[in-house]
Amino acid sequence: MLVVDLSGDNPRGLRFVVEVANAYRKNPALSVTDFQAIVDRHTAHGAAVPKCGKGADLLAAIEDIVRILAARESGTAADRINSTLNRYPAHPQLVQLPGRPWSMHLRSENTDRAQWFASTAAFALGLWLSEKGACAWGTCQAPGCDDFFVDSGRRTAQRYCTPRCATRARVANYRLKSAGR
Ligand SMILES: [Zn+2]
Repeated sequence: MLVVDLSGDNPRGLRFVVEVANAYRKNPALSVTDFQAIVDRHTAHGAAVPKCGKGADLLAAIEDIVRILAARESGTAADRINSTLNRYPAHPQLVQLPGRPWSMHLRSENTDRAQWFASTAAFALGLWLSEKGACAWGTCQAPGCDDFFVDSGRRTAQRYCTPRCATRARVANYRLKSAGR
């Protein structure tokens, strides 16, 4: 059973997806061990995440998700999500964990890492897009950073991956203006 929470209003699972995509963009030869370390940080202890499959297949799966996160327009993102789901079909199931409401999970038996990651990430991004009605994610606009982020939906569109980058951008902008005086 899948452990990434796929509820439409909860970006928690997407933070995991974005962290994998950012790690891959910094290191396109991301190893299975690096990937597993990110999985371990984001999933419950003892979670049944597949531990088999070739590293090259995993990198191809991550590349698919990077292409979705790079989409700025919802039609483009939807096309990319659909083609990823065709390549890596998801098998959604309703599950009720003790004391929790029914929620949608993906089956992860009989899959390898690449299949698990691509189907989970595409499915979660698809739910998020349909919930928000737009690509509620983006690429950081701060100088020297192009990390992806999940836009968790405050009133104005988010431009920076973290408050730290927002501050950095503000300082850089201020310096630029002062220098021009
Ligand atoms: Zn940033």
